[in-house]
Amino acid sequence: MAEIFEYAPAPESRSVVSLRENYGLFVDGGFAPAESGETLTSLNPADESMLATVASAGPADVDRAVTAARLAQENVWGPMGGVERGKYLFRIARILQERSRELAVLESMDNGKPVKETRDVDLPLVAAHFFYHAGWADKLHHAGLGTDPRPLGVAAQVVPWNFPLLMLAWKIAPALATGNTVVLKPAETTPLTALVFAEICQEADLPPGVVNIVTGAGETGRALVEHPGVDKVAFTGSTAVGRGIARAVAGTDKRLTLELGGKGANIVHDDAALDQAVEGIVSGIFFNQGHVCCAGSRLLVQESIADELLARLKERMTRIRVGDPLDKNTDLGAINSADQLRRIREATDSGEAEGAERWSPDCDLPSEGYWFAPTLLTGVGQSHRVAREEVFGPVLSVLTFRTPEEAVAKANNTPYGLSAGVWTEKGSRMLWTAERLRAGVIWSNTFNKFDPTSPFGGYKESGYGREGGRHGLEAYLG
Ligand code: NAP
Ligand code: MG
Repeated sequence: MAEIFEYAPAPESRSVVSLRENYGLFVDGGFAPAESGETLTSLNPADESMLATVASAGPADVDRAVTAARLAQENVWGPMGGVERGKYLFRIARILQERSRELAVLESMDNGKPVKETRDVDLPLVAAHFFYHAGWADKLHHAGLGTDPRPLGVAAQVVPWNFPLLMLAWKIAPALATGNTVVLKPAETTPLTALVFAEICQEADLPPGVVNIVTGAGETGRALVEHPGVDKVAFTGSTAVGRGIARAVAGTDKRLTLELGGKGANIVHDDAALDQAVEGIVSGIFFNQGHVCCAGSRLLVQESIADELLARLKERMTRIRVGDPLDKNTDLGAINSADQLRRIREATDSGEAEGAERWSPDCDLPSEGYWFAPTLLTGVGQSHRVAREEVFGPVLSVLTFRTPEEAVAKANNTPYGLSAGVWTEKGSRMLWTAERLRAGVIWSNTFNKFDPTSPFGGYKESGYGREGGRHGLEAYLG
């Protein structure tokens, strides 16, 4: 094996981030503590240090936020008209770009993901979502949704911790462009970039009440989605919580979109360009520590090339740099929380217990913080838990197939249907496979690529509704 040379440390400076010690809830244009005075603490998962304390919103705070959003929607934001709304969204998009380095560093600190990714993926996409939807604000009558599409009213939005600011952008940008106002709850472990976003709304002079941010844990999310004053619920998170929300919303006139879990198949046919496929497999499962709903977490490789492909994949995995998320050379950062680390360990152990073979490259994991080495599980059977359930970590389950028909059958043998990948040199085989896969997003000869113009969403237990593109506007218009 070729020698792996060391890089000198290249840490990104934390001084671009000016964190306050405490953050209140952002309601009606200002920050205020929770009525109960309760707070939560957000940690840096790379070293377990405390970053800041945030308010924990209870039902009375949620009620205040929904009321502010209602008044703003009826009196200001709804009647304003698309041209003016678009100007605000363009302004927010530009400020996000101006403050992108600060936000990229803060996201990395609060979440544990490598700054290389927050800088080159999360933040550019966050700004792109605001620019894209700013462009739609005055053209909604051209969206194919009728000549006079109307906003729904107040949107309750709940997002997870894996892409905190990006999921906020996916939720808030289309809602505002279509004339709705929002109350958003970030995840308990990653609330900080949402609170800086609140500051950006102030900086952009966004009218009070148009965007409200209520921090807190799951109970805050429950109070928000169950509040009778919201017209629309948009949730991204686990299938289990999504099911509970669907139940709570059933029988009301609230509209609902759910973006849930996945167990994406990444199919490598025998004619694929192997080195290119190896890069796609690595980015498919190790991007963002595998905390990705559309991760390519099931590798389906044609049997005739399996040995060769796995040898190259292992060689490539020895070069994944695990460590300080703020180092610009880091490929794999920290696991977001102690709870998530425990779940990943438990799921991976179950794979071994059910007969899979486990392999990781040698890597020194830091002694503090939450870490998990990139891991391969080979010899996985379709009934194994690691082939059926989301691990949501840097763990790849490997299965093989002999014929294209078998690949499709195995890929579709899942309760989920969010994403899939197809690696082949032949356009006809690519289209043949893609036509038969039941997944909302299918990449070919690439993986984990996102664009605000492209609708994203799932089949089956991966949820319903689409975010992004023209289809995503539909979820906010009546
Ligand atoms: P989660 O436990 O479902 O949490 C998601 C959000 O819901 C968090 O803000 C959470 O608050 C809140 N929440 C918890 N219980 C709630 C309740 N009863 N009512 C309302 N809100 C509640 O999911 P997670 O573990 O944080 O996130 C990982 C999951 O998200 C994975 O399954 C992943 O596949 C999925 N995901 C899907 C997409 C997609 O687009 N399809 C994108 C990203 C992630 P706390 O954080 O305080 O618990
Ligand atoms: Mg945190």
